[in-house]
Amino acid sequence: MGSGFPGRMARALITGAAGQDGYFLSRLLESKGYDVHGLDRPGVQDRMEVIHPSRRWNVSLFDDSALSDLLQEINPEEIFHLAAFSFVLTTVSEEREVIRNNLEATHNLLSACREFLPSSRFCFAASAEIFGNPDHSPQSESSAIRPVTIYGMTKASCHHLVGVYRNRGYFACSAILFNHESSRRGNRFVTQKIVKTAIDIKRGKARELRLGSMDAVRDWGYAGDYVEAMWRMLQAEKPEDYVIASGHGHTVRDFASLVFSKLDLDLDQYLVIDEDLVRPGESFPRIGDPSRIKKDLGWVPSLDFEALVDEMLQAALDSK
Ligand code: GDP
Repeated sequence: MGSGFPGRMARALITGAAGQDGYFLSRLLESKGYDVHGLDRPGVQDRMEVIHPSRRWNVSLFDDSALSDLLQEINPEEIFHLAAFSFVLTTVSEEREVIRNNLEATHNLLSACREFLPSSRFCFAASAEIFGNPDHSPQSESSAIRPVTIYGMTKASCHHLVGVYRNRGYFACSAILFNHESSRRGNRFVTQKIVKTAIDIKRGKARELRLGSMDAVRDWGYAGDYVEAMWRMLQAEKPEDYVIASGHGHTVRDFASLVFSKLDLDLDQYLVIDEDLVRPGESFPRIGDPSRIKKDLGWVPSLDFEALVDEMLQAALDSK
């Protein structure tokens, strides 16, 4: 597939461009010859290193006039809305913040895009969290949406909001992203925590790895592949929502065992189960069914589970 805009440079706007997915998506779009603009909050602009400094923005999604000016100035054909708050919530005021920053901000952006860029295409990064604790596995585009966290609720509401705008004739679609990791993954996620701690143990800088539920199952894929799926969604003939997943489930123990064995370490010698880290009520495994995007858009992930572990491990070994 080409950029879809023969004869001139296509323009794209990525919100949340300073995060893991923003990094991979900017790299992908740059490699396809796009003029890439990134939006993120103040203080993280230098993490948009792939994007030219003149194309890094920090306009608030709540500032209607600045937002409409920016959209009209950039005039992007494609908008990838990745920005979201995803921290663990403990107070009502934190919940309020997440509802405002995820749901209201998405509505502001979506309505402004439809108003000022009616022929643009919009991809929203939803999450497997919209399924909550599913009663069957794997989950597909037709699985019940029953979030159990405030974060999941905001992602589910935005997913529906995208459907509302699509009904009004705007090219908007929602990517239901299952867990996707890489060497750019934040340290609070279990994959990166395992990789970094295992290397510290190997180098004598740590003595133990503290984890919660070892039997929890996740469908882990490679972030670089998932942003490519989102790009394909905006090149399609019509806007559709898709599950983006590897289709394979692994336990936290599987992930940790593989990392430790690659470093010639015995996991059980260092593993400490910390009850405070155990999350309640994970029933059916969270595994996605990617058949639809594979069939409709020919998406094929490049890295499997073991190759993902290798990528994370190698990068962490190189950077320390
Ligand atoms: P999530 O799917 O977005 O919640 O991604 P995480 O990487 O945070 O968690 C993935 C799974 O690992 C969940 O089922 C957690 O319960 C499990 N897990 C077990 N121990 C830990 C831990 O120490 N930290 C984190 N973040 N998750 C853990």
